[in-house]
Amino acid sequence: MKETLKEKEMICIVCPIGCHINVIESNESEDGYEVEGNKCPRGKIYGIKEITSPTRVVSTTVSIENAFLKRLPVKTDNPVPKELIFECMKVINEVVVKAPVKVGDIIIENILDTGVNIVATRSMNEIK
Ligand code: SF4
Repeated sequence: MKETLKEKEMICIVCPIGCHINVIESNESEDGYEVEGNKCPRGKIYGIKEITSPTRVVSTTVSIENAFLKRLPVKTDNPVPKELIFECMKVINEVVVKAPVKVGDIIIENILDTGVNIVATRSMNEIK
């Protein structure tokens, strides 16, 4: 029986050009995949990673007390595995921080043991 090889079309999101790429499993390629349609080598890296272990940077907000806004914008300082995003959001939604907060402050360290931190993407002063 002939083995079916994987193939997936996607848009490279590494830069604003957004090449339409096609990632094809290949026994002849050194890294196991051929990538077509990419205008630069980053597209090949992205395509293979997207098919083997997709990850995403998560941008969201957490509750904040003592500040002039009720939500503080945060994001992951590195991409997390796509399948963990839902669990990450559950953890993030439980958090309430207190102002003052500085941009870059770690709000949650090593979320779900991924080695990724949730960091503030803006500063917020304490209201007096
Ligand atoms: S393949 Fe290269 S040029 Fe095309 S979107 Fe990806 S990073 Fe940009």
